[in-house]
Amino acid sequence: MSAKPTPELVPGAHNVLAALEGQPFAISPPSCDVCGIVGVERWGDLCAKCSTDRERHRRRVLLSRARDEIPELYRWAHFEAKELRQRVRVPSFVPFIEIVGAPRTISIWGPAQHGKTSLACAMLRTLLRVAEKPEAPDTVLARAAGARFVKVAMLPGPRKYGGAGALNEEVADAIDAPLIVLDGLGEEQPDSPQVASASLIILERHDRERISWVTVALQDGAAFTSFGRYDGAVLERIARDEPGRQRKFTVGGSR
Ligand SMILES: [Zn+2]
Repeated sequence: MSAKPTPELVPGAHNVLAALEGQPFAISPPSCDVCGIVGVERWGDLCAKCSTDRERHRRRVLLSRARDEIPELYRWAHFEAKELRQRVRVPSFVPFIEIVGAPRTISIWGPAQHGKTSLACAMLRTLLRVAEKPEAPDTVLARAAGARFVKVAMLPGPRKYGGAGALNEEVADAIDAPLIVLDGLGEEQPDSPQVASASLIILERHDRERISWVTVALQDGAAFTSFGRYDGAVLERIARDEPGRQRKFTVGGSR
C-alpha cells in the first residue's frame, strides 16, 4: 500500500473504510459533527470550540428578551459609562457581588432625576453580561433571562373586574418573574391602584424569596408610609439594610 491516503471529504469516512477492512472503530480519532475537525477534544457530539459557540448562542437568544426589557431611554446605562457617574450621586456603583450574588432585595432611594433608574438598568446590564458567559451558572442565566422591568406608574390595579376577579396579567407576571426592577415607587398617586399593585408584588415576591430591585422616589420611610402610600409591612421588606438579604442604597443628597 504505497498510495497516499486520500483527503477526507466526509468527516468520519475513514471510520467506514476502517470497518470495511475489519478494523475496530475505536482506533479512528473522533471528529466534530459541526466543524468536522478530527482528533480534537470532544464535549458530547461536538468539539470544545463548537460546544462553547453553541452554548454562547443559546444564551444570547435566551437573554435577548431580557435586554429588550431595559427601556430605550436607559440603554446607555452601564457601569463603564461616564454619564452614570455624572448622573448618579453617592453611591456611583452597586458592588458587583450584590448584583450577581445573594441579596433578594435591593432598594435605591433618592429624589427624582438623581439616577436611580439608570443605576438599576446598569445593574441589569451587568447581570446580562455575566449570564452570557458560557461559564455562568444556570441559576444566573435563568434569573437574567426572566428579568422584567416594571414601571409602577404603568401598573393596572391588582385584580380584574374592579377587584373581585383574578390577578391582572401584568401583576401576576411581575410576581412570577425570577427578577424584577420595580421602578418608581412613590411616583404614583397616593391611594391609587398602583399603590395596591406594587404592595402586592413586593409582599408576594418577598414570601417566594424572589429577587426584587426597587427604586423609590421618596425621601425616607416616613414619607413612604405616609397617608395613602404604603404600609409598614411593605417598608419592612425593602428598607432594611441587612447584608446577604436586603441592601438599601441612597443616591443624591448628603446621606
Ligand atoms: Zn467543532
